[in-house]
Amino acid sequence: MRRQCRGAPLRTVQRATDSPTQLAKLKGPFEKLFHVAGLGLEKARALAEVAEEVANCRKCRLWSSRTNPVPGHGNQDADVMFIGEAPGYNEDVEGKPFVGAAGKFLDQLLGLAGLKRSEVFITNVLKCRPPGNRDPLPDEVEACGPYLDRQILIIRPKLVVCLGRHSASYVLSRSGVRVRSRTWGTSISAVRGQVFRACFEGLAFLVMPTYHPAAGLYNPKLKSALMEDFISVGKILKGIREGSIPI
Ligand code: URA
Ligand code: SF4
Repeated sequence: MRRQCRGAPLRTVQRATDSPTQLAKLKGPFEKLFHVAGLGLEKARALAEVAEEVANCRKCRLWSSRTNPVPGHGNQDADVMFIGEAPGYNEDVEGKPFVGAAGKFLDQLLGLAGLKRSEVFITNVLKCRPPGNRDPLPDEVEACGPYLDRQILIIRPKLVVCLGRHSASYVLSRSGVRVRSRTWGTSISAVRGQVFRACFEGLAFLVMPTYHPAAGLYNPKLKSALMEDFISVGKILKGIREGSIPI
């Protein structure tokens, strides 16, 4: 199995996505084709299942004030996933991530990495909007995190880009990465633009934390840093695809 790392054992999603026993039963010249088709269907089904559970979820208080759930959107076979914090006003109205001003900026940033939305998967740590766009509360992150975990394990990205402190803190701590910095608790500057090797529930990938695009809209320094980081994202992906950057 590709890109397994030693760490916690693989959890439930592995079964839902790869279904090796079922696929192993396929025989004959079209076996490979069916493998691919089977995997695609399994992935689509598993992601739809997450979205449906999110739509019916009442695991934290946020379900009661939201307009629409925002489970995430994009390519199920994406090499790269972008993970934000939580839906804002526009996302709550439309049910899709990053569709407001920060989303427009994110589209420009994706362009710097040579990426289109159609080839990436974008989601958030929280799937429902916190009232007034307040920060996520620890119990909300704990309740909602498993949906993100499942999405990561279904999509199996090679690179995860964390947009903002809350996303970086969740993904790095779940990936067995220990950040040695006194400022890391309160600021993302200590890790921004660095690339970490993650072992997430047994799945290996690279993680790059950067600033939240919304922060770049109001602060020219952060905007330049974001632009730099997204140019790096393009280079890292190229390296991963060409094999010069091992995962
Ligand atoms: N900010 C986020 O963190 N996520 C969104 O989807 C939109 C804005
Ligand atoms: Fe459920 Fe997450 Fe929405 Fe809370 S934020 S209700 S855990 S989907």
